[in-house]
Amino acid sequence: MIVAGIDIGSRAAKTVILKDGKIISATIRDTGPESVKTSYLAINATIEGTGLTLDNVDYIVATGYGRVLVPFAKENVSEISCHARGINYFYPSVTTILDMGGQDCKAIRVDQEGHVNNFVMNDKCAGGTGRFLEMIADVLGTKLTDIGDVALQSKNTIPFNTVCAVFAKTEAISYLRRGESRSDILAGLNDAIATRCLNLLKKVGIEKDFTITGGIAKNKGMVAKIKERVGLEPLLAEDPQLIGALGAALFAQERLMGKSTGEQGKIQYGYNDGNGDYYITIDLAQCNGCRECVTTCPAGIFEVLQEDGRKPKARVTEATRKKLAILCPGILSCSNSNNKTCQSACPQKAITLTW
Ligand code: SF4
Ligand code: SF4
Repeated sequence: MIVAGIDIGSRAAKTVILKDGKIISATIRDTGPESVKTSYLAINATIEGTGLTLDNVDYIVATGYGRVLVPFAKENVSEISCHARGINYFYPSVTTILDMGGQDCKAIRVDQEGHVNNFVMNDKCAGGTGRFLEMIADVLGTKLTDIGDVALQSKNTIPFNTVCAVFAKTEAISYLRRGESRSDILAGLNDAIATRCLNLLKKVGIEKDFTITGGIAKNKGMVAKIKERVGLEPLLAEDPQLIGALGAALFAQERLMGKSTGEQGKIQYGYNDGNGDYYITIDLAQCNGCRECVTTCPAGIFEVLQEDGRKPKARVTEATRKKLAILCPGILSCSNSNNKTCQSACPQKAITLTW
C-alpha cells in the first residue's frame, strides 16, 4: 500500500510517502507563487529515486493552506487534524501540540489516538511565525538557518516590549544601533514569542506530553525559550516540519483501509490572506447533517453531502473555499444583518468561525 501526504504551507511544501506504513521518502521545498505547480514539483521530487511513478501512489491527501489546490489529491484535511495525526505516529502520548508555521501558530489539544479535541490559532499578528523570523533574520543580517544557534550564545536576554512584527523590527534595529549583540537581541525576541506561545497553549490547557511542530521547531534558540516558559521538555520529531505531511499520509492510508478520515475530526476551510485569518471549522463528529447552516447562510457557503453511504455531513462548497473573505462579511456583520449566523444557528455547535 503506497500513500502520500502533501502539505502546501505558506513558506514550504512538504511531502511524505508511506509504503505499508513506513516512510520511504520525504522532501521539503519552498512554496512557489503557484500552488498547483508547487504541488507537482513537490510530489515529483519525493517520488524521485523511489522507483515509483505518481500512478503507483494509491491515495494522496493534501493539507496546509494550499490544500484545495493540489489537483492529484483525492481529499484534503485541515493541517490541525494532520499535525495531530502525524505526531501520534512518533509519540502517541503527546496531548499538547504547539504548531509554529510560516504564517500562524496554533495550540492543539489531542487525545492519545491523534484526534483533535480543541485548538486555538494566534490572532492576526505575524509575531512568532516563520514570516516574522525571516524578517528579523534579514534585519540582523543573520542567515535564517543560523538564528537558533546565534540566540543560544546569548549571555543577556534583552527584553522586548512587543512581538508585533512592525514594532519588533523597529525595536531590534534600535538595539542593534545601540551596539547590543545579535545573540542577545534574538534571545529577547525568542523569549517574547515564547511567552506569547505559552498564552496560546494556556487557552487549550497544557498537559504532558508536549511537542512543537512546524519549521520553527528546528530553531534551537526558540525551542529552548519555549521549554523555559512552558516548563516542559518538548518531545520533538526528527523533522518537526514534516509532521503535517506525515499526518496527511496517515489519513490517506486510513482512507485506503476503508476507515473514515475527516468524519473523525474537525475540517478547517479557509486561509490567511495577509490581512487576517478567514477560517470556518466544521466538527464532523458533531455535525448531523441537519442543513441549518445551508439555509442560514446568505452567501451560499455551505452544502450537505452524503458520500459512500456515510452519514450526511456539512462542508464548505468547493466554489466558495477560495473566496471566503469576499463572500462572508464576518460573524458580527452577518449576525447584525441576518439575525443569526451559521455558528449560532448550528444546533450541534459544530461550526467555529475564526475571522
Ligand atoms: S447546522 Fe451544524 S449540524 Fe447542521 S448540517 Fe450544518 S454543521 Fe451540521
Ligand atoms: S457568518 Fe454568515 S455569511 Fe459567514 S459563513 Fe456564516 S452564515 Fe455565511
